[in-house]
Amino acid sequence: MTPDVRDRTDRPASLERRPADGCPIPEASWDRALRLIGQHDEIALACHVNPDGDALGSMLAVAFVLRSMGKRVVASFGDRHFAVPRLLGFLPGQEMLVPPEEYPAAPELMIVFDCSTFERVGLLGANAASAREVIVVDHHPSNTGFGTLDLIDANAAATAMLAEQLVHRLGGRLDRDIAICLYAGLVTDTGSFRYSSTTPAVHQMAARLVATGLRTDEIARELWDRSPFGYLKVLAHALERVTLEGGLVWTYVSRVDRAAYGLPYSELEGIIDIVRRADEAEVAVVLKEDDHGDWQVSTRSKGTVDVAAVCAALGGGGHHNAAGYTSYETVEETMAKFRRELRRVS
Ligand code: 5GP
Ligand code: MN
Repeated sequence: MTPDVRDRTDRPASLERRPADGCPIPEASWDRALRLIGQHDEIALACHVNPDGDALGSMLAVAFVLRSMGKRVVASFGDRHFAVPRLLGFLPGQEMLVPPEEYPAAPELMIVFDCSTFERVGLLGANAASAREVIVVDHHPSNTGFGTLDLIDANAAATAMLAEQLVHRLGGRLDRDIAICLYAGLVTDTGSFRYSSTTPAVHQMAARLVATGLRTDEIARELWDRSPFGYLKVLAHALERVTLEGGLVWTYVSRVDRAAYGLPYSELEGIIDIVRRADEAEVAVVLKEDDHGDWQVSTRSKGTVDVAAVCAALGGGGHHNAAGYTSYETVEETMAKFRRELRRVS
């Protein structure tokens, strides 16, 4: 089938999965991926550090199908402090996760999900560097193509869309567990079907997933509608010091803020969505200090500024409207450099 993204709107409204729709990944690459998977009994999966729903969901969905094929599967992510974020605790398949120290040192075949760069593999980068084959499954336009085989589609709204293809091409049945994992990826990366990446193909995939009987209301509640009480207090601190400078709105959350309420770092993900509401701002930034004292910088644009370009210049990456990087400097130094890069790019 010839990939064709042009006629999205005048297709019949079929929910049939059509694997090659709008997909620039060559058939030969999919074939090679299937061959590699077929040749290996043990397969090591990884996703990016501080995993979000798309990273962990895509990885676990593929883990399920590989396991059903009789493969030995290990799955992990390379964080120094290995813990599944609380809000992803509802994802099935977590028994397949192992901490980085139990991960094979030199896997024969490794599959890496949602990592735009090699450094996003974190501690498992050493394992990936020693692996014989590394398949990179990703949707970031900025992906550097660091695999021995790259399955990268920058038009895909989520890595979960590519994971669904892989599940399908491997002959896996879309059961409810797999659907929950893929749905978590799809809703996370489309902002609950609000972002411009929400194409007909996204909704068609959602329909296939919802048809398995998953509870969209329960998943939404897990992902967005609950927090420990301490979150409200930490949010209050963050909003108290939120700053508007021209078209830039920004704030920060330190580990001291979190420590006062025992709030884990992973609970901070949603703060950027509140800060970016400010109508006056084109760009929003939230600096989040992790448990090691490093600052994870979350950035968002409303469209005119390419924050991926800003973040790439500062050692990170991402998408045009949502990007990030790690800073090892103080808040002041971090923001000074960010402003400089922002001026250069806009
Ligand atoms: P968030 O602000 O939600 O953590 O990240 C938004 C997007 O920015 C993510 O989907 C990811 O693509 C990208 N991103 C965040 N942090 C980093 C980073 O440290 N390095 C790279 N390359 N991309 C990042
Ligand atoms: Mn993603």
